[in-house]
Amino acid sequence: MPPRKRGEGQWALGYREPLNKNEESKKNDDPLNVGSRIIDIYSKRGFDSIDPADLRGRFRWYGLYTQRKPGIDGGKTGLLEEEELDDKYFMMRVRIDGGQLSAAQLRVLADISNDYARGTADITDRQNIQYHWIAIEDVPAIWEKLHSVGLSTMTACGDSPRVIIGCPLAGIAEDEIIDGQPQIQDVLDRYLGSKEFSNLPRKFKSAISGCSSHCTVHEINDIAFVGVVNEAGEVGYDLFVGGGLSTNPMFAKRLGVFVSPERVHEVWKGVISVFRDYGYRRLRHRARIKFLISDWGAEKFRQVLQDEYLGYALPDGPAPAAPKAQRDHVGIRRQQDGNFYVGFTPRVGRVNGDKLHVIASLAEKYGSGRTRTTAEQKMVILDVPEENTEALAAELEAHDLRVRPSVFRRQTMACTGIEYCKLAIVETKQRAMDLMDELEKRLPDFDQPLTINVNGCPNACARIQVADIGLKGQLVLDEDGNQVEGFQIHLGGQLGTTFGKKVRGLKTTSAGLTDYVERVVRKYDDQRTEGETFAQWV
Ligand code: SF4
Repeated sequence: MPPRKRGEGQWALGYREPLNKNEESKKNDDPLNVGSRIIDIYSKRGFDSIDPADLRGRFRWYGLYTQRKPGIDGGKTGLLEEEELDDKYFMMRVRIDGGQLSAAQLRVLADISNDYARGTADITDRQNIQYHWIAIEDVPAIWEKLHSVGLSTMTACGDSPRVIIGCPLAGIAEDEIIDGQPQIQDVLDRYLGSKEFSNLPRKFKSAISGCSSHCTVHEINDIAFVGVVNEAGEVGYDLFVGGGLSTNPMFAKRLGVFVSPERVHEVWKGVISVFRDYGYRRLRHRARIKFLISDWGAEKFRQVLQDEYLGYALPDGPAPAAPKAQRDHVGIRRQQDGNFYVGFTPRVGRVNGDKLHVIASLAEKYGSGRTRTTAEQKMVILDVPEENTEALAAELEAHDLRVRPSVFRRQTMACTGIEYCKLAIVETKQRAMDLMDELEKRLPDFDQPLTINVNGCPNACARIQVADIGLKGQLVLDEDGNQVEGFQIHLGGQLGTTFGKKVRGLKTTSAGLTDYVERVVRKYDDQRTEGETFAQWV
C-alpha cells in the first residue's frame, strides 16, 4: 500500500491540532493578548520576568524581537540556542503604512530614537522605522508617544498582517493611476489588530498602490493591488498573490481580476482568509501563501476565493503596464498641484534621531511638513514650491541626505545584519556603506541603473535574488584556508522576471568584496551594448 500522504496542517481540511511549537503557542494564547502583559507585568518586573513563549513568540505581534548579544561572531549563528544569542534589549519595528508621516509624527519618532533607542533608527525596505536597544521597561512609554500621533507597532512582525506598503506619492504623483491611500486606510480601519487574523500560518505582506513606477514591488508581496484602468475606462486594481523571496523565491501570480476601489477591503479580507484557512501550517518553511498558490495555481485560488469567501465572481481585468527601470522616487519632480517633491537617500536606510529631527524641520521650512518613507529605504519631502527645491536639496545634501546620489548610493540596500540580528552570519550595513563609498571613488562616471543588495544570511530581507548584484552573507575560506566573513554572489536578478543566478563557487571574502564588485561593474561597462541592462548582459 502506498504510504499515506501527510497533511499540511490546513485548518479548512480539519487539521486543527497544532503540528509544531509555533502553532501550539498561538493556540495556547492569542498573541495579541501579550500587549497587556507587557504593560502590566513585564515592563514593571523587568526582562527576566518575561515568559519565554512570550519573549520569543508573541512579542513579535507588537513589533518586538530580542536583538543579538554584541560580540557573538557569525560562526556561532545556528549553533547556539536562541537564549544564548539573546540580548536583554529589543529591536522595535514601527509600522508606517503607506510610508505616510507628518512632521509631528517624525518628531515623535526622532524623540523616541534619542530618548530610548540610543539614537538608532533604520528605514526598512517596507517603509517601517526600526529601533534598537529598546528596554522592556520603556515600552509602555514609547507606545504612548506613538499612539499620541496615530502610530503603532501593532502586528509589525509575527504571523500576522504586516504593514501595508503604498506609493509615497499617493495622491500627488502626476502620473499615478489611482491614489491607493484611501484603500490602505480602509483595510487598516477594519482589520488592524483584529483577532480574526492574529493567527495566520505565517507573515502576510500587503501592498496597495496606483504608482505607475510600481515602487511597491508587487511581485514580491503576499498580496498586491496594482492600479489599472479597465476597458470601460474605470480605474481600479489588478490583483497579485503569493510573491516572496527568502530561501524559496517566487514571484506573485496574477489572478486576472479587476477589483474596484470599494471592493479592495473585502477582497483583501477574502485572500487573507483563504491563507488563514488553507495555508500550510505543519512546516514553517512551507507556511507562506506562495506555497499554496504554487500548488493550486491562480485559477483554483481565484475560484476558492470567489466561491467560498466573496460569494460573487470578480470580473476579468487588464494587467498593469510594465514597470519603469528606476522604481524609486529619488530626485526633484513635479506634483499634480504644481508643487514639487524631493526624494533623497540616507545611506542604506540608516538615519538617527537627530537626522529625523532635521528632516522634520526641513519639511516644515520648505514644504507643508509632509514626509514619506519608501520601499527602497529612502525618504521623500512633499509639497515644496519650485523656488524652494534647490535650497532644500542643498540643506539635505549638507546632512549627507543626497538628492542627486551616485547610482551606488541610490541603489544599494542592506538588511540589519550581525550588528543586531540573531540569524545573521556577517556584517551588512557598514559593509554596504563602505562598499558604496569606495565604488563612488573608483567608478565616479558609472551611471547605469545597478542594484546591489547586501544580506547577512540566506534569508532575503534585502531582496538579494532580485538585485543585479546580490550578496548573501556566509562564511567562506580565505587564501590561507581560514574561515572568514564573506558572500555568495547572485548575478542578474530582476524584479518580476528573473532571480539572480547563483554561480557555483562564486564567492568573495568581505575583504575582497569591493575589488570583486569593481571588476564586475567595469566589465559590464566595457562590454555592454547600447541599452543593455546588467541582467541582460549577465
Ligand atoms: Fe537578519 Fe538574515 Fe534578514 Fe539580514 S537577511 S536581517 S541577517 S534574517
